[in-house]
Amino acid sequence: PDEWKIALLGDGGVGKTALAVQFTTRSFIGESNTYDPTIEQCYRHGAPVDNQFCCFEIIDTAGQREYATLTDQWIREGQAFALVYSVASRATFERLELFRQSLFRVKRKQPYFVLVANKTDIHYNREVSLQEGKDLAEKFGCEYIEASAKTGYSVQKVFFDLVRILRAG
Ligand code: GDP
Repeated sequence: PDEWKIALLGDGGVGKTALAVQFTTRSFIGESNTYDPTIEQCYRHGAPVDNQFCCFEIIDTAGQREYATLTDQWIREGQAFALVYSVASRATFERLELFRQSLFRVKRKQPYFVLVANKTDIHYNREVSLQEGKDLAEKFGCEYIEASAKTGYSVQKVFFDLVRILRAG
């Protein structure tokens, strides 16, 4: 079967759980979600990608600094990665370099990943521009995706594109 493990990496609060829940249930967890932000959760979902059925196993990680040691374990488990930041928080954007370094340190061969700018439904408090996101993706040598777990915008694209990258191997 076509089955892939995809891990979401990024600071706490950027919307990793919201992206996984939006993708698997097509709904937004809301502002007062009851998901424990500190523990790893796993979501399973099946969908056809380019006319071929695919099973997604999504590893939703804890991004807080205290869990940095666990990050290596999640990276070992994952086959492809979404590096996620919130456009409403410059700090989460700047922390991605550390996640990228961990990816290259732990994975022996070239890791498969995309850059995800989440919370793009927030316009008034946006701290990181479209151009800055594109520039970072170019530096990382990966695809750039603007998404919103709240509206659902481009959420499917994040996971489908990772599977397309994995299939192309
Ligand atoms: P995680 O710690 O990275 O898993 O982040 P969560 O998924 O728990 O989300 C953190 C907070 O941001 C929650 O209050 C969510 O409701 C909110 N959130 C997540 N994604 C979005 C989004 O795309 N837009 C908006 N406006 N809020 C979001």
